[in-house]
Amino acid sequence: MTQLSIPTTALGERGQIPLIGLGTYALDGEAGATAIATALQNGYRLLDTAAQYLNEETVGKAIRQSGVPRQELVVTTKLAGADHGYDKTLAAARASLQRLGLEYIDLYLIHWPNPSVHLYAESYRAMLQLADDGLVRHVGVSNFKPAHLQRLFDETGVWPALNQVQLSPALARTELRRFHAEHSIATEAWRPLGADEGVPSNRNVTEIARKHGRTAGQIALRWAVQQGIVAIPKSGRTDRQLENAQVFDFELGDADMAALATLDLGEAAAWDADTHEEF
Ligand code: NAP
Repeated sequence: MTQLSIPTTALGERGQIPLIGLGTYALDGEAGATAIATALQNGYRLLDTAAQYLNEETVGKAIRQSGVPRQELVVTTKLAGADHGYDKTLAAARASLQRLGLEYIDLYLIHWPNPSVHLYAESYRAMLQLADDGLVRHVGVSNFKPAHLQRLFDETGVWPALNQVQLSPALARTELRRFHAEHSIATEAWRPLGADEGVPSNRNVTEIARKHGRTAGQIALRWAVQQGIVAIPKSGRTDRQLENAQVFDFELGDADMAALATLDLGEAAAWDADTHEEF
């Protein structure tokens, strides 16, 4: 068993969240549960699932199988698009808790804003109620743009603790991150390895990786955590889980960061939450 040491960053007013967590999309069944449990035994403490992934039961099973004390974990799940609305959100959270076999969710996110449905602010209000009731520790969102975030604040006076967005050196989301920083919203990166945008094979990335004696994936993840961005790479393989979390013993210099900045494809290359909706 490897004992990883994964540093944390601020979440909300009093919370902390590990800078590297485990994405669990498509990790399911016996093999999925074992892969997740092994990650926890090796030192991962942040898990990312969603009602939409249909694997909350597997995640719950993995937590129990791991033997890691519940209070050490940050378990994230997400409200599915079909469950937007105040009452539906309350019911969906309870259903997620039941599938996970947990008494509280550490971080509950709205998966996509689905603006055509016009109910994400209602869901957010219900999630704040769930936090008041002790069923949720931190309320956050995913795939929200600044206008969606602003609307949540205008309607409730509360900024979400975190926004989980598509983010890698090729999708740097600079403006969005500036907005987050202004309002103390933590930034979390999904698909942080940027494979769809060619990050692992990019010449600048492979050159920096060679120089530091690291893999391309580790360069992409170091780029994120060095800027205080939480990243949740998914791997079903223990060797890759370990590799992905071992990014805290080297540093990218100014020249490395400048070379990585040239990869950014711009905001238009990211999935647009004004038009992309998921249910
Ligand atoms: P990712 O973590 O960037 O990449 C995962 C892929 O890379 C898998 O095919 C994995 O294969 C492979 N991989 C992992 N580590 C590797 C390494 N060190 N070297 C080479 N290949 C490696 O992308 P993602 O799974 O799409 O995103 C991560 C998590 O974000 C998801 O699991 C999910 O929890 C979350 N997510 C959220 C949203 C949202 O809308 N909020 C959308 C997408 C994803 P193996 O498993 O075979 O290693």
